[in-house]
Amino acid sequence: MKKITVTRPYLPPKEEYISMIDRIWENEWLTNKGPLHNEFAKGLEKYLDASNINLVVNGHMALDIAIKSLELKGEVITTPFTFASTTHAIVSNGLKPIFCDINENDLTIDVKKLENLISDDTSAILPVHVYGHPCNIEEINRIANKYKLKVIYDAAHAFGVKYKNQSLCNFGDISIFSFHATKLFHTIEGGALIYKDDSYTRKFNALKNFGIENEEIISYVGGNGKMNEFQAAMGLLNLKYIDTNIIERKKITLAYRTFLKNIRGINYFVPEKNKDITYNYSYFPILIESNSYGKSRDEVYEILKKHNVYSRRYFWPIVTEFDCYKNEFCDIDVEVASRISKQILCLPIYNGLSIEEVEEICLILNHIQKSKGV
Ligand SMILES: *Cc1c(COP(=O)(O)O)cnc(C)c1O
Repeated sequence: MKKITVTRPYLPPKEEYISMIDRIWENEWLTNKGPLHNEFAKGLEKYLDASNINLVVNGHMALDIAIKSLELKGEVITTPFTFASTTHAIVSNGLKPIFCDINENDLTIDVKKLENLISDDTSAILPVHVYGHPCNIEEINRIANKYKLKVIYDAAHAFGVKYKNQSLCNFGDISIFSFHATKLFHTIEGGALIYKDDSYTRKFNALKNFGIENEEIISYVGGNGKMNEFQAAMGLLNLKYIDTNIIERKKITLAYRTFLKNIRGINYFVPEKNKDITYNYSYFPILIESNSYGKSRDEVYEILKKHNVYSRRYFWPIVTEFDCYKNEFCDIDVEVASRISKQILCLPIYNGLSIEEVEEICLILNHIQKSKGV
């Protein structure tokens, strides 16, 4: 079998990217709110049905700016079942992460355990729509209102996801997106802040440009987080293909579900079972129950590799097990996240992965279970 990786960046037709780049030469404008950047921001606003969008150089910078701009203090409640970026953004801003366990149904923050973790020092909640599964936004909203907490959603996985026909980006104070090459929608590297309150705009613009408000006034300790024209060109073009790409990934997902249906000990998620959710098919995570499947997740991962299939143990280890955090911040029990991280495996999904390849991967999984050895 030819090498199959867990993901592959989407590349739009090269000639079309070149015509976009031609426009950069015509404009002679490379970065700092260029014409393509502005056009892309408008296009995204429309696609995501967002009130305000602020483009930045990557998703991590979006998180950093969100945290800085809300002037959070003390503790931020978040999930340990996420990418390193989420927690690093909290800690590097001098805040203390409080890890709340996840629920087993969709692996997002467990709202039943959340309220107990709130203290006088809590200033915000930073949940993650992991794999594009929407968090329990109604309950998070209720809790945030009750305790006057800010909510920043890490929506890096949730491009295009809707809840009750509303864009998921419109909940909480700020939602951040990542447009990294490996994400469902990308601008090579890139990210965005999406928010309802217009008054944030000034501060976001300053924070991504060294805190500069104008020639004479430098108001904040800002960094450099601007999106350049080459990124915006990729974004404008990929926006044209996003709907077809989601449809293709939906076909891949449905094929996986069909081929895996009868394999004992392998479970997958069907977010659309909840009629309120319009899903984006960004990832295909499975859970391997080693007792009924007969092999552990790590064994499956290794055997797939021998067949040239590179899946990913995403998320493992969880954040509370990171060397940089395990001796600090991690005294709260996150039993579900810990258990799930040893069962989870993301199978390959990307535009261009054929249904035959999906079938082959599932045949291997079927075969592993039936064989005693490798
Ligand atoms: C990718 C990702 C980020 C960081 O985004 P970058 O664009 O890579 O900086 C943050 N949070 C989550 C959950 C991610 O998957």
